Amino acid sequence: MTMTVWEILGEIAFVCIILFFFIFAVVSQIEKEKRASIRSFFVACLIAAVNVFFFILPLSFRKWSFAGVFGLCAAIILYVALPPRPKHPFQIVRSINKVDERDIIFSRFDMRENGPHYSEYYNRHPENKSKDDEIRKLPDILSPHHVKKHPVHFNLAAAEFEFLEQQLQHVDGEIHSVQAEYTPKENTVNIKNMIRYLGADLCGVCELDQAFVYSHTGRGPEPYGSEINLKHAYAVVFAIEMDQKMIATAPQSPVLVETAKKYVEAAKISIIAAQQIRMMGYAARAHIAGSNYQAMLPPLGWKAGLGELGRFGMLITEKFGARMRLGMLTTDCPLIPDKSITFGIQNFCEICKKCAENCPSQAIPHEGKTEENGVMKWVLNRENCYRYWRKVGTDCAVCISVCPYSKADNGLHSFIRHFSTWSKRAQSLTLWGDDFFYGRKPKRKPSPF
Ligand code: SF4
Ligand code: SF4
Repeated sequence: MTMTVWEILGEIAFVCIILFFFIFAVVSQIEKEKRASIRSFFVACLIAAVNVFFFILPLSFRKWSFAGVFGLCAAIILYVALPPRPKHPFQIVRSINKVDERDIIFSRFDMRENGPHYSEYYNRHPENKSKDDEIRKLPDILSPHHVKKHPVHFNLAAAEFEFLEQQLQHVDGEIHSVQAEYTPKENTVNIKNMIRYLGADLCGVCELDQAFVYSHTGRGPEPYGSEINLKHAYAVVFAIEMDQKMIATAPQSPVLVETAKKYVEAAKISIIAAQQIRMMGYAARAHIAGSNYQAMLPPLGWKAGLGELGRFGMLITEKFGARMRLGMLTTDCPLIPDKSITFGIQNFCEICKKCAENCPSQAIPHEGKTEENGVMKWVLNRENCYRYWRKVGTDCAVCISVCPYSKADNGLHSFIRHFSTWSKRAQSLTLWGDDFFYGRKPKRKPSPF
């Protein structure tokens, strides 16, 4: 039996679609995504059945049926690909004032009621006092109340955070007097290679924008309230992927273990890399969790081209979404900055809202962006978010786990993530597919250990 050109093209379309859904089913099975696996297998079988049915059609019908399938697929591809991808950039609408680290939520809750800085802070910010005091009544994140729920996990996280605390003194040091002679381009390549070699998955460089440097210390080894004078020329920002299986348990204890583990890895990388740069004769300082950040990582990560800021306020990368932790060092070593990127996250977040719908504390806005300190963004209700952390005793991460961009870093999900950058319609189709295969409110997964 010879096939016409239309039959061959139609059959190729059938095979591609069946193969795609079959691979989807197998990958989902490996990922223990039961719903996605069953549904994609069912879709693959349904299309295969239609394909077989076409072969039993009378000859005259068959040719036009296959031609119709090919035409339909071509029309869908064109419809989805056009108009080209939306490119709403992240918007800064006026000059940004430096943020005082004492105002951020973690600094406020580092203070004990009636501790040394308590009165001074709330005299300056009486608007925060009653809501903060109300949250203070809840058990602390690593308090015995939470630890007893899963001593293995919570004590492991506590040990990881303790290890971080011990690293705070190693973030800076002596600069060697002899400077290595490399061009800025060579320095950039060397530092990025070193940081990747030490364990980072992504790395970018930007000029250290003073707008994103904190004005005063709120945490860390430097005296509380001291003015921050960080004048380095560049920030080297990197990302480390977080384990997908651990994050899928959100908001249970594995997410806290994984967060702390990745902070330890980020600290190791930035401390060693900063020391190496000082040995090469240039000033460099590691900024590590624990905490001694002197600048804000998400906006600097955006400037360094690692990703875009999403609805839940975190950086979303093309490779892992927000399922990663950032690390940073700042330096005077001459470098070539990267350019910030736009891959359509601002548009995707407008239609998606999956994090907002799943957020247990309703901290993520459902509506449009508003201006906060010169930046147009979705403003998180940080108190609601942190209150929930104290209730569950972890850093929650439900928003990270449900985000369609947080899927595993493999060929299938990378293809889908890339597909979603094609156009507005591709974004709608990606979102529809994510809801259909994984659910609008995905179930949390059991702990891997
Ligand atoms: S971490 Fe949890 S509580 Fe906070 S914004 Fe994300 S989902 Fe909401
Ligand atoms: S879940 Fe959706 S809306 Fe939320 S950050 Fe991810 S892509 Fe944006």
